[in-house]
Amino acid sequence: MKPKVAFFDFSSCEGCQLTVVDSLQTHLDLLDAVEIVQFREAISERGEDYAIAFVEGSITREADEARLKKIRAQATVLVALGACAHIGGVNAIKNLTPLPDVRKYVYGDKMEWYATYTARPISAIVPIDAFIPGCPIDREEFIRVVKSLLMGTKLPIPDYPVCVECKLKENVCMFHKGGFCLGPVTRAGCGAICPTYGDGCEGCRGAISNPNRDSMKNVLAEYGLTTEDILSRMTLFGAYETAKP
Ligand code: SF4
Ligand code: SF4
Ligand code: SF4
Repeated sequence: MKPKVAFFDFSSCEGCQLTVVDSLQTHLDLLDAVEIVQFREAISERGEDYAIAFVEGSITREADEARLKKIRAQATVLVALGACAHIGGVNAIKNLTPLPDVRKYVYGDKMEWYATYTARPISAIVPIDAFIPGCPIDREEFIRVVKSLLMGTKLPIPDYPVCVECKLKENVCMFHKGGFCLGPVTRAGCGAICPTYGDGCEGCRGAISNPNRDSMKNVLAEYGLTTEDILSRMTLFGAYETAKP
């Protein structure tokens, strides 16, 4: 019997689910290996019997919690899909501003109509078994993770910094060019795509589990930058962590 898989979304742009659809178009073999029972972006069925759940999006309303807990209770394996679900992502930018101000800015005099609270990753509500980082996720990494889950092997998510991939590509470092980059503390796996095309890494794949903070501080000091500089750059994707008291 094929493992049953379902996809769910909370607050997100749904770009990671679109990437999944894109990945499956060129990996039709995967569709032979699993049975997708729920995937709002791709099928109309709403099967509730699944073993593997991929959840995209951040939790931004108290009402989301019960739905997420129900998914957790059903799924044997729960995977956070993309930066919003994994680290809070761009939704958590609002956490840097007092919540009443944000609600007023977005909803104006109708703010009481819409319940919303501090944006958070799904792991703030339920335990997760795996994550696929990135904004959006990498299409090939998604395929590798699914295969790994099906075979019960170690998940192929790198835990070394973007700098490693960047150096292998022989890029000129953004710091040398007067720019800024979170590559030294950000999880690799994207092929250092941003520095390769001339932009500093913004940290969409989240921090590695053991970032070399001293080394990062040394790099900053060498270029006349401070810890505050790096914290302000981490707010695009890492605001959930940086806005924590
Ligand atoms: S991680 Fe990025 S691409 Fe994926 S749902 Fe969130 S905002 Fe969209
Ligand atoms: S550009 Fe960024 S990722 Fe590349 S080596 Fe420099 S700090 Fe590291
Ligand atoms: S270089 Fe940084 S911001 Fe760009 S895709 Fe990779 S992890 Fe994300």
